Amino acid sequence: MKTIKLKPGKERSLLRRHPWIFESAIHPLNNDVHTLHSLRSGDTIRIESDEGRPLAVASFSPTSQIRARVWSFDTEAIIDHRFFKNAIRAALACRKALPIASNAFRAVHGESDGLPGVIVDVYGDTAVVQITSAGAERWKDAIAQAIVSELGVARIYERSDSSVRKLEGLEPHQGWLYPALKDAETRSTIVSFEEHGLKYEVDVASGQKTGFYLDQRENRALFATAIKQSGAERVLNCYSYTGGFTLSALSGGAKHVTSVDSSALALQHAARHVEINGFDTSRAEFIDADVPAILRKYRTEGVMFDAIVLDPPKFAPSAAHAERAARAYKDINRVAFHILKPGGLLFTFSCSGGIDQALFQKIIASASSEANSDATILAHVGATHDHPHSLAFPEGEYLKGLLLRKM
Ligand code: SAH
Repeated sequence: MKTIKLKPGKERSLLRRHPWIFESAIHPLNNDVHTLHSLRSGDTIRIESDEGRPLAVASFSPTSQIRARVWSFDTEAIIDHRFFKNAIRAALACRKALPIASNAFRAVHGESDGLPGVIVDVYGDTAVVQITSAGAERWKDAIAQAIVSELGVARIYERSDSSVRKLEGLEPHQGWLYPALKDAETRSTIVSFEEHGLKYEVDVASGQKTGFYLDQRENRALFATAIKQSGAERVLNCYSYTGGFTLSALSGGAKHVTSVDSSALALQHAARHVEINGFDTSRAEFIDADVPAILRKYRTEGVMFDAIVLDPPKFAPSAAHAERAARAYKDINRVAFHILKPGGLLFTFSCSGGIDQALFQKIIASASSEANSDATILAHVGATHDHPHSLAFPEGEYLKGLLLRKM
Protein backbone atom coordinates (compact mmCIF):
# COMPACT_ATOMS: atom_id res chain seq x y z
CA MET A 1 0.00 0.00 0.00
CA LYS A 2 1.34 3.42 -0.94
CA THR A 3 1.48 6.23 1.59
CA ILE A 4 0.60 9.90 1.22
CA LYS A 5 1.83 12.51 3.66
CA LEU A 6 -0.22 15.55 4.63
CA LYS A 7 1.00 19.11 5.09
CA PRO A 8 1.88 20.07 8.68
CA GLY A 9 -1.29 20.59 10.75
CA LYS A 10 -3.55 19.03 8.13
CA GLU A 11 -3.99 15.89 10.21
CA ARG A 12 -6.35 17.66 12.61
CA SER A 13 -9.64 16.86 10.86
CA LEU A 14 -8.62 13.21 10.46
CA LEU A 15 -7.85 13.01 14.18
CA ARG A 16 -11.47 14.11 14.71
CA ARG A 17 -12.43 11.24 12.38
CA HIS A 18 -13.65 13.43 9.55
CA PRO A 19 -13.35 11.23 6.42
CA TRP A 20 -12.29 13.71 3.71
CA ILE A 21 -8.74 14.62 2.65
CA PHE A 22 -8.72 17.70 0.44
CA GLU A 23 -6.25 18.22 -2.35
CA SER A 24 -4.96 21.32 -0.53
CA ALA A 25 -3.92 19.17 2.46
CA ILE A 26 -1.44 17.17 0.36
CA HIS A 27 1.82 18.91 -0.44
CA PRO A 28 3.67 17.56 -3.50
CA LEU A 29 7.03 18.37 -1.88
CA ASN A 30 6.17 16.26 1.15
CA ASN A 31 5.62 13.25 -1.07
CA ASP A 32 7.63 11.29 -3.53
CA VAL A 33 6.55 12.59 -6.95
CA HIS A 34 6.69 9.06 -8.39
CA THR A 35 4.28 7.82 -5.73
CA LEU A 36 1.81 10.61 -6.49
CA HIS A 37 2.03 10.01 -10.21
CA SER A 38 1.73 6.25 -9.96
CA LEU A 39 -1.56 6.39 -8.04
CA ARG A 40 -4.66 5.37 -9.98
CA SER A 41 -8.31 6.26 -9.41
CA GLY A 42 -9.67 4.21 -6.51
CA ASP A 43 -6.32 2.94 -5.22
CA THR A 44 -6.18 2.15 -1.54
CA ILE A 45 -3.60 4.31 0.24
CA ARG A 46 -2.34 4.99 3.74
CA ILE A 47 -2.48 8.57 5.01
CA GLU A 48 0.24 9.91 7.31
CA SER A 49 0.80 13.18 9.12
CA ASP A 50 3.74 15.35 8.17
CA GLU A 51 5.66 13.76 11.05
CA GLY A 52 4.96 10.26 9.79
CA ARG A 53 2.12 9.35 12.16
CA PRO A 54 -0.23 6.87 10.42
CA LEU A 55 -3.78 8.30 10.37
CA ALA A 56 -6.09 6.30 8.13
CA VAL A 57 -6.56 3.98 5.18
CA ALA A 58 -8.32 5.75 2.31
CA SER A 59 -9.19 5.60 -1.36
CA PHE A 60 -7.48 7.92 -3.84
CA SER A 61 -9.32 10.10 -6.33
CA PRO A 62 -7.00 11.88 -8.79
CA THR A 63 -9.46 14.48 -10.12
CA SER A 64 -11.68 15.36 -7.18
CA GLN A 65 -10.98 18.23 -4.76
CA ILE A 66 -11.66 15.58 -2.14
CA ARG A 67 -8.48 13.78 -3.11
CA ALA A 68 -8.97 10.85 -0.74
CA ARG A 69 -11.83 9.43 1.34
CA VAL A 70 -11.27 7.36 4.45
CA TRP A 71 -12.25 3.70 4.45
CA SER A 72 -10.95 3.14 7.96
CA PHE A 73 -9.26 4.97 10.83
CA ASP A 74 -7.70 1.64 11.80
CA THR A 75 -4.36 2.20 10.08
CA GLU A 76 -3.84 -1.57 9.77
CA ALA A 77 -7.22 -2.19 8.13
CA ILE A 78 -7.23 -4.36 5.03
CA ILE A 79 -9.66 -3.25 2.37
CA ASP A 80 -11.04 -6.39 0.81
CA HIS A 81 -14.33 -8.25 0.33
CA ARG A 82 -14.59 -8.89 4.06
CA PHE A 83 -14.24 -5.18 4.83
CA PHE A 84 -17.38 -4.38 2.81
CA LYS A 85 -19.34 -7.25 4.34
CA ASN A 86 -18.49 -6.01 7.82
CA ALA A 87 -19.35 -2.42 6.96
CA ILE A 88 -22.76 -3.36 5.56
CA ARG A 89 -23.43 -5.61 8.55
CA ALA A 90 -22.63 -2.68 10.87
CA ALA A 91 -24.92 -0.37 8.89
CA LEU A 92 -27.74 -2.90 9.21
CA ALA A 93 -27.19 -3.18 12.98
CA CYS A 94 -27.55 0.62 13.21
CA ARG A 95 -30.94 0.39 11.43
CA LYS A 96 -32.14 -2.29 13.83
CA ALA A 97 -31.79 -0.04 16.89
CA LEU A 98 -35.14 1.62 16.09
CA PRO A 99 -38.20 0.32 14.25
CA ILE A 100 -38.63 0.95 10.52
CA ALA A 101 -42.28 0.75 9.56
CA SER A 102 -41.60 -0.26 5.98
CA ASN A 103 -39.97 -2.89 3.81
CA ALA A 104 -38.22 -0.03 2.00
CA PHE A 105 -35.32 1.66 3.77
CA ARG A 106 -31.87 3.14 3.26
CA ALA A 107 -29.38 0.42 4.19
CA VAL A 108 -26.17 2.38 3.55
CA HIS A 109 -25.83 6.17 3.75
CA GLY A 110 -22.33 6.90 2.48
CA GLU A 111 -19.80 8.53 4.79
CA SER A 112 -22.17 8.29 7.76
CA ASP A 113 -21.94 4.49 7.51
CA GLY A 114 -18.19 4.46 6.88
CA LEU A 115 -18.67 3.85 3.14
CA PRO A 116 -17.94 7.09 1.26
CA GLY A 117 -19.66 7.22 -2.11
CA VAL A 118 -21.99 4.28 -1.44
CA ILE A 119 -25.77 4.64 -1.13
CA VAL A 120 -27.91 1.52 -0.88
CA ASP A 121 -31.71 1.69 -0.74
CA VAL A 122 -33.73 -1.48 -0.32
CA TYR A 123 -37.23 -1.83 -1.79
CA GLY A 124 -38.59 -5.23 -0.79
CA ASP A 125 -36.28 -7.79 -2.37
CA THR A 126 -34.56 -5.26 -4.67
CA ALA A 127 -31.60 -3.10 -3.68
CA VAL A 128 -30.71 0.06 -5.55
CA VAL A 129 -27.07 1.10 -5.29
CA GLN A 130 -25.57 4.46 -6.12
CA ILE A 131 -21.79 4.72 -6.44
CA THR A 132 -20.33 8.24 -6.40
CA SER A 133 -16.66 7.92 -5.44
CA ALA A 134 -13.60 6.55 -7.17
CA GLY A 135 -12.90 4.16 -4.28
CA ALA A 136 -16.42 2.75 -4.27
CA GLU A 137 -16.30 2.35 -8.06
CA ARG A 138 -13.13 0.26 -7.73
CA TRP A 139 -14.82 -2.04 -5.18
CA LYS A 140 -18.22 -2.21 -6.86
CA ASP A 141 -18.20 -6.00 -7.25
CA ALA A 142 -17.27 -6.56 -3.62
CA ILE A 143 -19.97 -4.09 -2.56
CA ALA A 144 -22.55 -5.92 -4.71
CA GLN A 145 -21.59 -9.27 -3.19
CA ALA A 146 -21.83 -7.85 0.32
CA ILE A 147 -25.26 -6.36 -0.43
CA VAL A 148 -26.55 -9.77 -1.56
CA SER A 149 -25.04 -11.71 1.34
CA GLU A 150 -25.80 -9.23 4.15
CA LEU A 151 -29.11 -7.72 3.04
CA GLY A 152 -30.50 -10.91 1.49
CA VAL A 153 -31.91 -9.17 -1.57
CA ALA A 154 -32.62 -10.99 -4.83
CA ARG A 155 -31.64 -8.18 -7.22
CA ILE A 156 -29.49 -5.07 -7.39
CA TYR A 157 -30.12 -2.17 -9.73
CA GLU A 158 -27.35 0.40 -10.15
CA ARG A 159 -28.31 4.08 -10.30
CA SER A 160 -24.89 5.68 -10.67
CA ASP A 161 -26.26 8.56 -12.74
CA SER A 162 -25.64 11.36 -10.25
CA SER A 163 -23.80 14.40 -11.61
CA VAL A 164 -21.33 14.32 -8.70
CA ARG A 165 -19.63 11.35 -10.40
CA LYS A 166 -18.13 13.82 -12.86
CA LEU A 167 -16.08 15.40 -10.06
CA GLU A 168 -14.55 11.98 -9.43
CA GLY A 169 -13.80 11.47 -13.12
CA LEU A 170 -16.46 8.75 -13.42
CA GLU A 171 -18.94 8.31 -16.26
CA PRO A 172 -22.65 7.95 -15.47
CA HIS A 173 -23.94 4.39 -15.47
CA GLN A 174 -27.21 2.62 -14.75
CA GLY A 175 -28.63 -0.86 -15.18
CA TRP A 176 -29.04 -4.22 -13.47
CA LEU A 177 -25.93 -5.12 -11.51
CA TYR A 178 -27.11 -8.46 -10.08
CA PRO A 179 -27.96 -11.02 -11.26
CA ALA A 180 -26.59 -10.10 -14.68
CA LEU A 181 -29.13 -10.25 -17.48
CA LYS A 182 -28.67 -12.87 -20.15
CA ASP A 183 -28.88 -11.86 -23.82
CA ALA A 184 -32.24 -10.36 -24.79
CA GLU A 185 -33.56 -10.83 -21.26
CA THR A 186 -35.44 -7.92 -19.67
CA ARG A 187 -36.60 -7.34 -16.13
CA SER A 188 -39.18 -4.87 -14.85
CA THR A 189 -37.73 -1.93 -12.93
CA ILE A 190 -41.02 -1.34 -11.07
CA VAL A 191 -40.84 -2.44 -7.45
CA SER A 192 -43.57 -2.32 -4.82
CA PHE A 193 -43.35 -1.87 -1.09
CA GLU A 194 -45.38 -0.72 1.89
CA GLU A 195 -44.72 2.15 4.27
CA HIS A 196 -46.81 2.61 7.41
CA GLY A 197 -49.42 0.36 5.82
CA LEU A 198 -49.63 2.37 2.57
CA LYS A 199 -48.75 0.80 -0.77
CA TYR A 200 -46.24 2.32 -3.15
CA GLU A 201 -44.76 1.41 -6.53
CA VAL A 202 -41.55 3.00 -7.73
CA ASP A 203 -39.59 2.78 -10.92
CA VAL A 204 -36.02 2.38 -9.76
CA ALA A 205 -34.75 3.20 -13.26
CA SER A 206 -36.50 6.54 -13.80
CA GLY A 207 -37.55 7.78 -10.36
CA GLN A 208 -35.79 10.68 -8.63
CA LYS A 209 -32.92 9.69 -6.32
CA THR A 210 -33.15 5.88 -6.24
CA GLY A 211 -36.91 6.08 -6.83
CA PHE A 212 -38.37 7.39 -3.59
CA TYR A 213 -37.71 9.91 -0.79
CA LEU A 214 -37.24 7.36 1.97
CA ASP A 215 -35.87 10.06 4.29
CA GLN A 216 -39.37 11.50 4.85
CA ARG A 217 -40.89 8.22 6.10
CA GLU A 218 -41.50 9.21 9.73
CA ASN A 219 -42.52 12.73 8.73
CA ARG A 220 -45.20 11.33 6.44
CA ALA A 221 -46.54 9.28 9.37
CA LEU A 222 -46.41 12.32 11.67
CA PHE A 223 -48.35 14.34 9.10
CA ALA A 224 -51.10 11.69 8.89
CA THR A 225 -51.47 11.85 12.68
CA ALA A 226 -51.52 15.66 12.71
CA ILE A 227 -54.19 15.76 9.98
CA LYS A 228 -56.31 13.29 11.91
CA GLN A 229 -55.91 15.04 15.27
CA SER A 230 -56.57 18.50 13.88
CA GLY A 231 -59.42 17.46 11.60
CA ALA A 232 -57.85 19.30 8.65
CA GLU A 233 -60.07 19.03 5.58
CA ARG A 234 -58.40 20.87 2.70
CA VAL A 235 -54.74 20.05 2.20
CA LEU A 236 -52.16 21.44 -0.23
CA ASN A 237 -49.10 19.24 -0.85
CA CYS A 238 -46.44 21.33 -2.63
CA TYR A 239 -43.52 19.57 -4.36
CA SER A 240 -45.51 16.38 -3.93
CA TYR A 241 -43.32 14.09 -6.09
CA THR A 242 -45.17 10.73 -6.16
CA GLY A 243 -47.62 11.75 -3.46
CA GLY A 244 -46.10 10.58 -0.17
CA PHE A 245 -47.64 13.38 1.91
CA THR A 246 -50.79 13.18 -0.22
CA LEU A 247 -51.39 9.60 0.96
CA SER A 248 -50.62 10.69 4.54
CA ALA A 249 -53.27 13.39 4.35
CA LEU A 250 -55.85 11.04 2.80
CA SER A 251 -55.17 8.35 5.38
CA GLY A 252 -55.48 11.00 8.11
CA GLY A 253 -58.97 11.74 6.84
CA ALA A 254 -58.51 14.92 4.79
CA LYS A 255 -61.52 15.59 2.55
CA HIS A 256 -59.53 16.97 -0.37
CA VAL A 257 -55.82 17.04 -1.21
CA THR A 258 -54.22 19.14 -3.95
CA SER A 259 -50.78 17.87 -5.03
CA VAL A 260 -48.50 20.18 -7.00
CA ASP A 261 -45.29 19.19 -8.76
CA SER A 262 -43.47 20.22 -11.94
CA SER A 263 -42.89 16.59 -12.95
CA ALA A 264 -45.84 15.17 -14.87
CA LEU A 265 -44.41 11.67 -14.48
CA ALA A 266 -44.23 12.02 -10.68
CA LEU A 267 -47.86 13.18 -10.62
CA GLN A 268 -48.95 10.16 -12.68
CA HIS A 269 -47.35 7.92 -10.05
CA ALA A 270 -49.02 9.96 -7.30
CA ALA A 271 -52.45 9.42 -8.89
CA ARG A 272 -51.72 5.70 -9.20
CA HIS A 273 -50.75 5.59 -5.49
CA VAL A 274 -54.09 7.14 -4.51
CA GLU A 275 -55.84 4.48 -6.59
CA ILE A 276 -53.95 1.38 -5.43
CA ASN A 277 -54.56 2.36 -1.82
CA GLY A 278 -58.29 2.40 -2.46
CA PHE A 279 -58.91 6.08 -1.71
CA ASP A 280 -61.79 7.79 -3.48
CA THR A 281 -59.99 9.48 -6.38
CA SER A 282 -62.35 12.47 -6.25
CA ARG A 283 -60.61 13.44 -2.98
CA ALA A 284 -57.34 14.05 -4.82
CA GLU A 285 -56.35 16.63 -7.42
CA PHE A 286 -52.97 16.77 -9.21
CA ILE A 287 -51.56 19.93 -10.72
CA ASP A 288 -48.48 20.10 -12.92
CA ALA A 289 -47.23 23.60 -12.09
CA ASP A 290 -44.50 25.77 -10.62
CA VAL A 291 -45.10 25.94 -6.87
CA PRO A 292 -44.16 29.62 -6.27
CA ALA A 293 -46.47 30.64 -9.12
CA ILE A 294 -49.44 28.58 -7.94
CA LEU A 295 -49.00 29.80 -4.35
CA ARG A 296 -49.22 33.40 -5.60
CA LYS A 297 -52.28 32.52 -7.67
CA TYR A 298 -54.07 31.01 -4.66
CA ARG A 299 -53.25 34.11 -2.67
CA THR A 300 -54.66 36.42 -5.33
CA GLU A 301 -57.80 34.30 -5.63
CA GLY A 302 -58.24 34.02 -1.85
CA VAL A 303 -58.05 30.20 -1.83
CA MET A 304 -57.28 28.94 1.71
CA PHE A 305 -56.13 25.60 3.16
CA ASP A 306 -56.27 23.80 6.51
CA ALA A 307 -52.81 22.23 6.01
CA ILE A 308 -49.89 22.85 3.66
CA VAL A 309 -46.73 20.83 2.99
CA LEU A 310 -43.68 22.55 1.47
CA ASP A 311 -40.96 20.03 0.61
CA PRO A 312 -38.92 21.78 -2.10
CA PRO A 313 -35.82 20.45 -3.85
CA LYS A 314 -32.39 21.52 -2.59
CA PHE A 315 -32.25 25.33 -3.04
CA ALA A 316 -28.70 25.56 -1.57
CA PRO A 317 -26.33 22.78 -2.57
CA SER A 318 -23.63 24.37 -0.39
CA ALA A 319 -23.19 27.19 2.12
CA ALA A 320 -22.09 29.46 -0.76
CA HIS A 321 -25.67 29.45 -2.10
CA ALA A 322 -27.25 29.97 1.31
CA GLU A 323 -28.26 33.62 0.86
CA ARG A 324 -30.16 33.19 -2.40
CA ALA A 325 -31.70 29.98 -1.11
CA ALA A 326 -32.79 31.69 2.11
CA ARG A 327 -34.75 34.22 0.05
CA ALA A 328 -36.41 31.45 -1.97
CA TYR A 329 -37.41 29.56 1.19
CA LYS A 330 -38.74 32.75 2.76
CA ASP A 331 -40.82 33.61 -0.30
CA ILE A 332 -42.70 30.32 -0.56
CA ASN A 333 -43.23 30.11 3.20
CA ARG A 334 -44.52 33.69 3.41
CA VAL A 335 -47.20 33.01 0.80
CA ALA A 336 -48.01 29.68 2.48
CA PHE A 337 -48.71 31.53 5.75
CA HIS A 338 -51.02 33.89 3.84
CA ILE A 339 -53.13 31.07 2.41
CA LEU A 340 -53.22 29.00 5.61
CA LYS A 341 -56.32 29.31 7.79
CA PRO A 342 -55.84 30.22 11.47
CA GLY A 343 -55.27 26.97 13.37
CA GLY A 344 -53.95 25.39 10.15
CA LEU A 345 -50.82 23.26 9.85
CA LEU A 346 -47.68 24.08 7.89
CA PHE A 347 -45.15 21.26 7.44
CA THR A 348 -42.14 22.97 5.92
CA PHE A 349 -38.75 21.51 4.94
CA SER A 350 -35.29 22.27 3.65
CA CYS A 351 -32.98 19.55 2.35
CA SER A 352 -30.14 22.03 1.73
CA GLY A 353 -26.92 21.07 3.47
CA GLY A 354 -25.91 24.75 3.36
CA ILE A 355 -28.79 25.80 5.65
CA ASP A 356 -28.81 24.45 9.18
CA GLN A 357 -31.77 23.96 11.51
CA ALA A 358 -31.22 27.26 13.36
CA LEU A 359 -31.00 29.31 10.16
CA PHE A 360 -34.01 27.50 8.70
CA GLN A 361 -36.08 28.39 11.75
CA LYS A 362 -35.03 32.05 11.44
CA ILE A 363 -36.07 32.09 7.79
CA ILE A 364 -39.47 30.63 8.63
CA ALA A 365 -39.91 33.10 11.50
CA SER A 366 -39.31 36.04 9.21
CA ALA A 367 -41.62 34.57 6.55
CA SER A 368 -44.34 34.32 9.18
CA SER A 369 -43.85 37.84 10.46
CA GLU A 370 -43.85 39.27 6.93
CA ALA A 371 -47.22 37.55 6.46
CA ASN A 372 -48.42 39.23 9.70
CA SER A 373 -48.90 35.86 11.32
CA ASP A 374 -47.47 33.85 14.19
CA ALA A 375 -47.20 30.11 14.65
CA THR A 376 -46.37 27.50 17.27
CA ILE A 377 -43.70 24.91 16.63
CA LEU A 378 -45.27 21.49 17.18
CA ALA A 379 -42.18 19.51 16.10
CA HIS A 380 -38.63 19.89 14.84
CA VAL A 381 -37.93 17.01 12.46
CA GLY A 382 -35.13 15.57 10.36
CA ALA A 383 -34.44 12.59 8.17
CA THR A 384 -35.46 9.16 9.43
CA HIS A 385 -32.81 7.28 11.40
CA ASP A 386 -31.92 5.04 8.44
CA HIS A 387 -30.28 8.21 7.02
CA PRO A 388 -27.85 8.60 9.92
CA HIS A 389 -25.25 11.30 10.30
CA SER A 390 -22.29 10.75 12.55
CA LEU A 391 -20.98 13.28 15.07
CA ALA A 392 -17.73 13.46 13.12
CA PHE A 393 -19.44 14.17 9.79
CA PRO A 394 -21.92 17.05 10.21
CA GLU A 395 -22.18 17.33 6.40
CA GLY A 396 -24.35 14.21 6.63
CA GLU A 397 -27.19 16.25 8.14
CA TYR A 398 -29.22 17.81 5.37
CA LEU A 399 -32.97 17.44 5.92
CA LYS A 400 -34.66 19.63 8.49
CA GLY A 401 -38.30 20.47 8.94
CA LEU A 402 -40.78 22.28 11.17
CA LEU A 403 -44.35 21.27 11.84
CA LEU A 404 -46.15 24.51 12.68
CA ARG A 405 -49.64 25.49 13.75
CA LYS A 406 -50.71 28.95 12.69
CA MET A 407 -52.15 31.01 15.55
N1 SAH B 1 -42.31 15.35 -0.65
C1 SAH B 1 -41.88 14.39 -1.62
C2 SAH B 1 -40.49 14.66 -2.15
C3 SAH B 1 -40.31 16.03 -2.80
S1 SAH B 1 -38.87 16.16 -3.75
C4 SAH B 1 -42.02 12.98 -1.05
O1 SAH B 1 -42.31 12.82 0.15
O2 SAH B 1 -41.84 12.01 -1.80
C5 SAH B 1 -39.05 17.68 -4.56
C6 SAH B 1 -40.04 17.69 -5.73
O3 SAH B 1 -40.13 19.03 -6.20
C7 SAH B 1 -39.65 16.86 -6.95
O4 SAH B 1 -40.67 15.94 -7.21
C8 SAH B 1 -39.56 17.88 -8.11
O5 SAH B 1 -40.09 17.37 -9.33
C9 SAH B 1 -40.38 19.02 -7.60
N2 SAH B 1 -40.08 20.37 -8.09
C10 SAH B 1 -38.88 20.95 -8.27
N3 SAH B 1 -39.00 22.25 -8.62
C11 SAH B 1 -40.34 22.52 -8.64
C12 SAH B 1 -41.13 23.69 -8.91
N4 SAH B 1 -40.55 24.86 -9.18
N5 SAH B 1 -42.46 23.59 -8.83
C13 SAH B 1 -43.06 22.41 -8.55
N6 SAH B 1 -42.38 21.28 -8.27
C14 SAH B 1 -41.03 21.33 -8.32
